[in-house]
Amino acid sequence: MSLAEITERVQRAETAAGRAPGSVRLIAVSKMQPDARVESILQQGHRIFGENRVQEAAGKWPGFREAFDGIELHLIGPLQTNKARQAMDLAQAIHTLDRPKLARTIARLAQETGQCPDLFVQVNTGEEPQKAGVLPAQADAFVAECRGMDLPVAGLMCIPPVDEEPSLHFALLGKIAARNGLTGLSMGMSGDFEQAVAQGATHVRVGSAIFGERDYG
Ligand SMILES: *Cc1c(COP(=O)(O)O)cnc(C)c1O
Repeated sequence: MSLAEITERVQRAETAAGRAPGSVRLIAVSKMQPDARVESILQQGHRIFGENRVQEAAGKWPGFREAFDGIELHLIGPLQTNKARQAMDLAQAIHTLDRPKLARTIARLAQETGQCPDLFVQVNTGEEPQKAGVLPAQADAFVAECRGMDLPVAGLMCIPPVDEEPSLHFALLGKIAARNGLTGLSMGMSGDFEQAVAQGATHVRVGSAIFGERDYG
């Protein structure tokens, strides 16, 4: 696959779903990818990237930002409260707001610095014990709690269970977002982003389909 192919598939999925062209943002997930591959995607003009570790993002993106303008970085991995400040300095969006303690920390830092990334509340739609995210039944209350802290909640995010039909989870996330008046939907990865677009995704997070397999070595 290539960036051009994935971009085209996103556009075709938008059209097929009767959605406006450009209504879906393609986040190129660059975690654990060699710098040369990331640079190649930057050279092709892409500017929206996702990382799942603060440490890795901090090592890599300040340098790319010196070389390329207009980079938008999305943090899509679990966030420890003690890394929140660094995450907020680095990222324009955090997709993994999933507990009151983290919300309070981000709210305090936002007050202190006068700026806050866009926030997505992660929902554990599959109710998997090992997975982060608020349970679907707790989502409304948590969104309200975050809003009560003046946090800029842009939408919801989910990672469906690997062995289940993702569309059901995307539909559930869409339903929770709609009843909370939220327009942002961060859902869909390499294997299922077209289904996510069909279900209303506004942000798809695609890694290996753009960059190739990750280097875990
Ligand atoms: C790694 C990751 C992705 C991208 O996964 P691919 O299957 O490589 O597209 C998307 N979302 C999250 C939260 C991730 O950690």
